[in-house]
Amino acid sequence: MFQAVAYVSRGLFRSYAGLSVRMNSTGIDQKGVLANRVAVVTGATDGIGFAIARRLARDGAHVVVSSRKQHNVDRAVAALQGEGLSVTGTVCHVGKAEDRERLVATVLEHYGGLDFLVCNAAVNPLVRSTLQASEEVWDKILDVNVKSPALLLSQLLPHMENRGMGAVILVSSIAAYIPHVELGPYNVSKTALLGLTRTLSLELAPKGIRVNCLVPGIIKTNFSKVVRTGVCPPFPSWAQ
Ligand code: NAP
Repeated sequence: MFQAVAYVSRGLFRSYAGLSVRMNSTGIDQKGVLANRVAVVTGATDGIGFAIARRLARDGAHVVVSSRKQHNVDRAVAALQGEGLSVTGTVCHVGKAEDRERLVATVLEHYGGLDFLVCNAAVNPLVRSTLQASEEVWDKILDVNVKSPALLLSQLLPHMENRGMGAVILVSSIAAYIPHVELGPYNVSKTALLGLTRTLSLELAPKGIRVNCLVPGIIKTNFSKVVRTGVCPPFPSWAQ
């Protein structure tokens, strides 16, 4: 499923295999390299986020999945628990402060802290030229795609620091390097994540927390339908 290009701030961090997503392994290993680690993945009930959550859990981590819709969370948790994986879930629209607080509370209630955060959730409401984007569209994209990873990390950071190490992955896009025409604000948001990664990696390195960026190419998911088919998702799905 993954055709990813990884952007990594090389040289700033010690080598550590903890959060690598192994693409070719299919074996479930509850005592794997991530045994006793706790991972939080946003936008984890479908597509890339779901695949990351499954991989982390198969490598032995306890994983907290989340997304906006309870039925999606229930379905993802049931599917992963059905594979014998250690997974729990909660609703978290990453753009909503109360939902982020609930996610933090869920993590603390179940595991008392975390080691890995994967900020995967994103929106792309506009398929039009950049200068046709309304203020509402700009706010939505920047809130969900750029601000929410930083805000969620700020809420979770104390509970990562306690554990003496940690790793954060921000999911950007190939659109950060090769802009998709008509997805202007989305391209900009994904470019901003490269800057956020560099900045946070410097800020958090002294605390033993690595910050890296995953830069996927086009992956066949619901999200990429707009790029692959040119059909924009219906308004309500992105407006939530
Ligand atoms: P996807 O298959 O559509 O899955 C999106 C997931 O995010 C779902 O679980 C969805 O569940 C959840 N979600 C959507 N909005 C959310 C929000 N505001 N808060 C929390 N969860 C939310 O998408 P995908 O293709 O896997 O994309 C995942 C990430 O990869 C995104 O950051 C995207 O920019 C990036 N990416 C994708 C591609 C690609 O070709 N697919 C390429 C480059 C980068 P709910 O509906 O229940 O919220």
